[in-house]
Amino acid sequence: MTMTRGFAVHAPRQRFQPFTFERRALRDDDVAIRIEHCGICHTDVSLANDAWGTSRFPMVPGHEITGTITSVGAGVETFAPGHRVGVGCFVDSCAASQMRDDALEQYRPGLVLTYNGSEPGSGAPTHGGYSESIVVKADHVAAIPDALPLDAAAPLLCAGTTMFSPLRHWNVQSGTRVGIVGIGGLGHLGVKLAVAMGAHVTAFGRSPVKAAEARSLGAHRYVATQEPSALAPLAGSFDLILTTASADLDWSAYLALLDVDGTLVLLGVPEKPLEIGAFPLITGRRRIAGSYIGSMRDTRAMLSFCAEHGIVADIERVALRDVDVAFARLAAGDVRHRFVIDVAAHFAERSA
Ligand code: ZN
Repeated sequence: MTMTRGFAVHAPRQRFQPFTFERRALRDDDVAIRIEHCGICHTDVSLANDAWGTSRFPMVPGHEITGTITSVGAGVETFAPGHRVGVGCFVDSCAASQMRDDALEQYRPGLVLTYNGSEPGSGAPTHGGYSESIVVKADHVAAIPDALPLDAAAPLLCAGTTMFSPLRHWNVQSGTRVGIVGIGGLGHLGVKLAVAMGAHVTAFGRSPVKAAEARSLGAHRYVATQEPSALAPLAGSFDLILTTASADLDWSAYLALLDVDGTLVLLGVPEKPLEIGAFPLITGRRRIAGSYIGSMRDTRAMLSFCAEHGIVADIERVALRDVDVAFARLAAGDVRHRFVIDVAAHFAERSA
């Protein structure tokens, strides 16, 4: 085992504090990574606040990790020291025999989350990217193409793959009419990815003030939903709508925006159970679905796609010691569109 340094919360809604903990000794199929940057995902704030009652403390959050390989296990042939890599929302997974597609790691019952998860075997808590280094199974690590900078690429590891996976699954291509509800950390990447796939993209936000921002991301149209009459004229005009918000929406109104055989996909987690009338489903053969992060296959394909199309997240860099400030600003919606922590810079300063 190796000791590593990080920042942890020790109880819900507490401030972050320096925290030293152990990373497991390198196994034959592992790689060790020196973490350069880590994005701050909304999930980090929710789990640090124990919003879902599932949090384990002390907790080192962070699942939008980029860095450089420092050593590889004896059986690893895909990576070598110096390679630029990323780690997303999970670090291990155990396939269930009844799953038809074995490559969908994110839906495996034995999924091990990057933090607030349990190490297989020992049950020890997993700790994420607000730390100096991490040890991960090599097949759960993705190479970062040279064209992508490690800071602005970090949010691709969660937010990017979470958007890319459903866009690909529902076969978005030239001319597909796509709606993206919410243009925050997830949604702004959803707009960029869907536009690059050739879709006609409409961004939905509450306030009219975000119209220019949506257009700058490439959206063909922006709809301010706080205007009660905004949705009705768009009835039946979408093939796919992805909702990134955790707000409770008028689900029937959004279903009515879909053409026949259209699909409404939930990516955010609304507070209340969905209230949906049967008619919008039946009268348009419409579907409502969910989608959860992305598989390693999705993540690798997404990173190549982003390198090819010059897509990265819009980021604001933040020092590790200022993570409390970033959490408060994120909770208030005050970021365009993702905070990324300069992790390596923090520890380089400490060691100097
Ligand atoms: Zn996330």
